[in-house]
Amino acid sequence: MGEQYQLEARPHPDGALRWIVTSRSRPDIEHLVDLDGFGGIGRCSCEHFEFRIAPDLRDGRRIGAHRCSHILTARNAFTDAMIATLIRVRETRHQTGTCQYCGNATEAGTDTCPECLQEIQANETDPDPETENG
Ligand SMILES: [Zn+2]
Ligand SMILES: [Zn+2]
Repeated sequence: MGEQYQLEARPHPDGALRWIVTSRSRPDIEHLVDLDGFGGIGRCSCEHFEFRIAPDLRDGRRIGAHRCSHILTARNAFTDAMIATLIRVRETRHQTGTCQYCGNATEAGTDTCPECLQEIQANETDPDPETENG
């Protein structure tokens, strides 16, 4: 297993695009990753990025791999966080309840489905004895 599989990213309090990446084998060494660095390529505080990748980017040479394993790890963590957020938003938007009368799905914030609600309202407004079955 390569080193990049042992990397862990955690969000930095400064914003969603800034991450702290550590290695499980060397947790004392932290790398700061800015995903919006170099126009979205990313920027990392590690030596490999600062001395090998960043000079090429500053000179406009954008050939080859411009992302160290820390940036890739942070991008992966960012994607996970973004997907989790989008799932949460979608679930909140389509949140449903359960009808207390028939058990069918209801709209968010209600405990009576449209059919049962209609039935209840019909009984309240039109108490016709002929519709009752005893
Ligand atoms: Zn790096
Ligand atoms: Zn119902």
